[in-house]
Amino acid sequence: MNILTAWRSPAQSFSRHKSNKTQDKAGPRPSKGIEIKSKREIELMRESSRIVATVLKEIAEMIAPGMTTKDIDTYAEKRIREMGAIPSFKGYHNFPASICISINSEVVHGIPSPKRVIKAGDLVKVDTGAYKNGFHGDSCITIPIPPVSERVAKLTEVAEKALYAGIAQVRAGNYLMDIAGAIEDFVKTRGFSVVEDFTGHGVGRNLHEEPSVFNFRTHQLPNVRLRAGMTLAIEPIINAGSKQVRILADKWTAVTVDNQLSAQFEHTVLVTEDGYEILTDRNLV
Ligand code: MG
Ligand code: MG
Repeated sequence: MNILTAWRSPAQSFSRHKSNKTQDKAGPRPSKGIEIKSKREIELMRESSRIVATVLKEIAEMIAPGMTTKDIDTYAEKRIREMGAIPSFKGYHNFPASICISINSEVVHGIPSPKRVIKAGDLVKVDTGAYKNGFHGDSCITIPIPPVSERVAKLTEVAEKALYAGIAQVRAGNYLMDIAGAIEDFVKTRGFSVVEDFTGHGVGRNLHEEPSVFNFRTHQLPNVRLRAGMTLAIEPIINAGSKQVRILADKWTAVTVDNQLSAQFEHTVLVTEDGYEILTDRNLV
């Protein structure tokens, strides 16, 4: 893939992407190559997304200090399979688990471990995907483990509201830049930063498809015009301090360079003629 994806394998770097001259021009681009889902396909997307929403809702209710991150992964895989789906993440670019679980200053792509124990006060991000009937759903939540500091609570609130500020811009005829601008403005006016090294993405038959759904104003990625039937994973990552991240020696886990906290929420969203439908809405399960 020549697009920046939410999952950056070691071979895909943002700096390499930046040097791609063919992407340097500003302005709207056609939505060529982006699949428009049929009614039937949307129905299948709803089903995969509902499974993801169910798993995340259950994890938010059961997660507690003393559990390991591997415990959460084991539970997620069991539930995804019970609902007739396959974990989208397991084996993807050789990722070894069914969830990404990233704690505190870990930004994304944390690998579950039987040695990593969840503690009171932790800020835990759980991201998962389910594949069923040929389609993926993808969603992420941030779970503060009580008692948490006011700063942790605030960062979590801003991250979740930033996602919804972006989603509010979703409708046929709007552009990806409308989503990005809304997220960037919402976050920056509240004193936090938006990570630029990872973006959201199209989602459907593949976990990651075009377009890159960026969370900050940029002319280095195609500013696609939205069309009804597109399905997008919108997933801003919000840092308490610097937006800069680095990848640990495990080649997966991204962490903040300043060791400050990071939070993320993600939904799989269908573009409709007059707005959107949140396919991974946990209120519906
Ligand atoms: Mg995800
Ligand atoms: Mg995603």
